[in-house]
Amino acid sequence: MPAPALSERSGCDVWLKLEGCNPTGSFKDRGMTVAVSAAVGEGATAVVCASTGNTAASAAAYAARAGLRGAVIVPEGKIATGKLAQALVHGARVVALRGNFDQALHLVRELVDRHPVALVNSINPFRIEGQKTGAFEVCDQLGEAPDVLCVPVGNAGNVTAWWKGFVEYQVAPRLHGYQAEGAAPIVRGAPVENPETVASAIRIGNPARWEEATDAITSSRGEIRAVSDAEILDAYRFLGEREGVFCEPASAAGVAGLLRYGAEGRVVCVLTGHGLKDPTTALASAAPVVPSEPAIEEVERAALGGE
Ligand SMILES: *Cc1c(COP(=O)(O)O)cnc(C)c1O
Repeated sequence: MPAPALSERSGCDVWLKLEGCNPTGSFKDRGMTVAVSAAVGEGATAVVCASTGNTAASAAAYAARAGLRGAVIVPEGKIATGKLAQALVHGARVVALRGNFDQALHLVRELVDRHPVALVNSINPFRIEGQKTGAFEVCDQLGEAPDVLCVPVGNAGNVTAWWKGFVEYQVAPRLHGYQAEGAAPIVRGAPVENPETVASAIRIGNPARWEEATDAITSSRGEIRAVSDAEILDAYRFLGEREGVFCEPASAAGVAGLLRYGAEGRVVCVLTGHGLKDPTTALASAAPVVPSEPAIEEVERAALGGE
């Protein structure tokens, strides 16, 4: 989608790729449909993953559809409400780990070493094969590659997949990856033990695809930088109020990065997940609702702001 308000503010020709339009509301579906299909092909009866939320929602949905059992391990109290609801509705066993995402990923790796279940985190190569299709779509839809692709970076599977897609399409836009300041291991060059950010989907301190992501960004002559939570929420509100697009906070990190650091030419910002995933952050950062008695004068004042 073209983004006129964002183009005006940034001075670039900005477009938004709405990954929230995927079946479960995030880009994770692109890879999950492939990974779960492969698991079925290999005879697995169950899939497991560690997740900050969207992988869990997607794995649960595709497992349900394939008739597989699903178990998802999430950091306790740290995943957005909508994502938790999705995983539960699709019948997955949801394990609330008293630890963070990085510990959850470590534990599911151990779990699959001990049991015949398929791991569907983005360390699974089928996930990358599915996710690279985002790059094909962007080039097909624009009629050519963009100059720059802005994308939030968490476990770094997505930025890896976008680059693989562009390489296969024989194009080379610059990749601009953005981490949240409180969870920016690649930017800092060292793992972050207790990652913290409002953007729960990228609250990751030790990305599994760190090296591939660094290679992708270097090969594309791109950059990876950090943005603050305040900048993320500013971009999040700007998208909602000025572009009419509701994404989740992590998705706004790519836009926040564009606004802080700038870019040149035609820029695609990947909005990785839908805003409805995280109603708590939405309500906390929005204006309050306006109460009114059921009388026209009251409603006039409340609705139109007159005295
Ligand atoms: C998973 C996710 C990310 C981060 O993707 P990685 O592959 O972990 O880098 C960003 N935004 C949203 C909404 C996500 O669900």
